[in-house]
Amino acid sequence: MTALTISLGKITHNARQLNELCEQRGIEISGVTKGVWGDPIVAGAIIDGGIKMLAESRLENISRLRTAGIDCPLWLLRIPALSEVKQVVALADLSLNSELSVIAALSEAALSCNKKHAIILMVDLGDLREGILPEDLFDSVARILEFQGVQLMGLGTNLSCYGGVIPTATNLGQLVTYAEQVEARFAMKLRYISGGNSSSLPLLLAGDMPSRINHLRLGESILFGRETVKRNALDGTYQDAFLFEAEIIERKKKGSVPLGKIGEDAFGTIPRFQDRGERVRAIVNLGRADTEIAGIVPVAPGVEILGASSDHLILDVTTASETQCAVGEKLCFSMNYAALLRAMPGACTVYKET
Ligand SMILES: *Cc1c(COP(=O)(O)O)cnc(C)c1O
Repeated sequence: MTALTISLGKITHNARQLNELCEQRGIEISGVTKGVWGDPIVAGAIIDGGIKMLAESRLENISRLRTAGIDCPLWLLRIPALSEVKQVVALADLSLNSELSVIAALSEAALSCNKKHAIILMVDLGDLREGILPEDLFDSVARILEFQGVQLMGLGTNLSCYGGVIPTATNLGQLVTYAEQVEARFAMKLRYISGGNSSSLPLLLAGDMPSRINHLRLGESILFGRETVKRNALDGTYQDAFLFEAEIIERKKKGSVPLGKIGEDAFGTIPRFQDRGERVRAIVNLGRADTEIAGIVPVAPGVEILGASSDHLILDVTTASETQCAVGEKLCFSMNYAALLRAMPGACTVYKET
């Protein structure tokens, strides 16, 4: 049986480290739970680290958090679909937005249940994912202020996700300038200037974060202790809060090149092999249906991934410990964010307190 072991203590520790780092610089954090599909136990571990708000990209996951009794503010990260504005207003305390027609519909939905829905207007600073273009900023804000059912809480941006644009003092400084122009022109104060995700941490650590940026949305850095520009480990954090475990179901000495004429494999590519002679090979009960194989790394020394099909992972264990790699033994794999994201929905999760 494959299992995904989650160290809650490590996640709490990472959350606390990042929360303290950001607090010193006047930055609030929304802890992002989409990597664990809104798992309420992991969410609880993040809150235990002192983080006071959570953010999610999917309404189903927000609903899961609410059902489990998580009562802190919950933000919706993915800009809402026009067809789901009612649920957004019912479930999320705030949503990120970039379309006036959706904001109008959110306003209507909020008014119909005597609520005011908080929004952050996303500005595209060049990454080309969500956000209004800067030239449309004033017109958009003017329209938003006419909608009675929404409250504009601030401006935000998202970088590094699609275009890979690195957050800098220049592009985030531009966001601050836009926010200050909005404040001056509309005689209002914006509560949040949300300067991005885990990719904004190197700028913060370098001391170059524009001072009015007062909010970040952090997911991967809390879960994996890494910033996301170069995926460097962050000082004083854990990178191994998640471990995938699978059992060895076959161990045999076999050749390293398949016998016979080679056609397509199970996934439509024609595999190529290097002849390394006879090797000791092991198969574990884990495959492409379970996770992103490119995102996992065996923990035990000498274990090398050769390939995977839907449900089988084939390993070279020639130089690994024979007792560790016997049939029936469990092997651990470290995971990256992509592997976790794929593994989480179907995984059998085991929570460790430490
Ligand atoms: C996923 C997401 C985040 C969190 O990103 P990390 O790299 O995991 O910190 C922040 N903001 C938005 C809009 C997101 O979609």
